[in-house]
Amino acid sequence: MYKSFYSKTVSAIVFLLAVFSITSSIAQELLKEGDYKPEDTEFYEPLPPKIKPGENDQPPSDAVVLFDGTDLSQWESEKGGEVQWEVQDGYFTVKPQTGGIKTKEIFGDFQLHIEWRSPQEIQGEGQGRGNSGIFLQGLYELQVLDSYESETYTNGQAGSIYKQYPPLVNAMKPPAEWEVYDVIYTAPKFSEKNGAMLEPGYVTVLHNGVLIQNHVQLQGTTEYIGTPKWIAHGKGPIALQDHGNPVSFRNIWIRELTRDDQ
Ligand code: MG
Repeated sequence: MYKSFYSKTVSAIVFLLAVFSITSSIAQELLKEGDYKPEDTEFYEPLPPKIKPGENDQPPSDAVVLFDGTDLSQWESEKGGEVQWEVQDGYFTVKPQTGGIKTKEIFGDFQLHIEWRSPQEIQGEGQGRGNSGIFLQGLYELQVLDSYESETYTNGQAGSIYKQYPPLVNAMKPPAEWEVYDVIYTAPKFSEKNGAMLEPGYVTVLHNGVLIQNHVQLQGTTEYIGTPKWIAHGKGPIALQDHGNPVSFRNIWIRELTRDDQ
C-alpha cells in the first residue's frame, strides 16, 4: 500500500516535472522568438572571397581559362598526345576524324562558360548538321548541334542533355553567329565502399543567357544506344566531341566549386 502510494507520488511528480519542462521550453522558445534582434540572424564569417567579375567577354578573375584564343595547351587528344584541331583568329575548330579532345585538368562541381559556332557551310540534316558535344566530367553530354532550322529528336537537339532532357526552349541563333553556354554542374556522389551511386548529378544550362536546363537530375552516363548507367568516378575533364563536323569553339573558362567531400 505504502509502496504503491509512494510510486504513484513519484510518477505524478515526474509527470508534472516533464509537463513543466516541456511547457517552459515552449515558453522559452516563444520568448526567444519575440526577443530576436536583427543582429541575432546576421553573421560576418566566413567572408566570401572578393573577385573581379569579367567585363567585355573576359572571364572572372578566379576562373581557370581553358582557351583564351591563342593555343590548346590546356587540352589533349582523347586518343592520347597532341591535339590536332586547329586554332585561328581566336577560336579553334574540330578537325574531323582526329578524335575528341579533353582538358588536362580534371574538375568536380563547376561553373563552365563556353562559346561555339556551327560550321559556316551548312551541310547535312538532324544529327549530321554541326554536331559536337561538351562532355561534363567526360561522361555526360551537353549537345552541340545546328538546331536553328533543322529537326531531330528533341532530346538530341542543341542544348539537350543528350538522350535525357530536351532543352526548355530552342534559343539558337543563326549558324553564322556564336552561341554561348553557361553551365552549372553538380557532380554525382558514389560510395567509396562499393561504387554505388549515392546522389545523382545535376545540371543547369543557360543558352545565350536563356535558361534551358533547370537543375535537371542526371540519369547516368550518356549512351547513344540503350539507357543511361551509373559508373563510379571521381573528378573528370571537360571533353569536346569530334562528330565529323567542323564546329568551332572559343572563350572557354571554368570555376571549380569547392565541396566539403571533394
Ligand atoms: Mg554530339
